[in-house]
Amino acid sequence: MNFPENLEAMTEVIVARRNAAQKAIIAIEEAQRQTQTNQRITNILVKLCVSWQESDPGKNGAVYFFLGRARSERVVVREFLPEGTKICQTQKEWDNYSRTKSRHGANDQVPYWYPVVNLDAVGKDECSKCKTPQLLVEHYEQTYDSSDGDEWLKEHFVLCLDCNSTTVLKSETSNSRF
Ligand SMILES: [Zn+2]
Repeated sequence: MNFPENLEAMTEVIVARRNAAQKAIIAIEEAQRQTQTNQRITNILVKLCVSWQESDPGKNGAVYFFLGRARSERVVVREFLPEGTKICQTQKEWDNYSRTKSRHGANDQVPYWYPVVNLDAVGKDECSKCKTPQLLVEHYEQTYDSSDGDEWLKEHFVLCLDCNSTTVLKSETSNSRF
């Protein structure tokens, strides 16, 4: 490209470069948004597989559980358990197992209070973007920890992998575990 030889041509080059820069900034911002969304969804998916292992769910960061069709109950999905994972069916089995592990250590057996269900037994509700039924998830965590008071968050949302998005259905806080 020849260097512009008059003010009009010079101005055109300036405008073109400025527009290109502006377009690149918009693309970067969009890529950043997508990166954040992908990281958020990845974190949810990872936690959906392992949150049952937490000895005090939500105390050390967010936990995520699928919800049953009744929506009030966290469930563990059989398809996402590592092969051979032992499931405690009764309190007695759990008590026996508990004695063998440290109190705050991770559970490597599924506690008896989580129903272990097949994926098709997970509750569903409509995704706000594509309007199709998608799986229900609970997000639970201690969001504030102080001597003046604590805050715990419980959120129910629809997780849609087609839209890469979550639709929050309800969100509540409490000053203690709930
Ligand atoms: Zn959707």
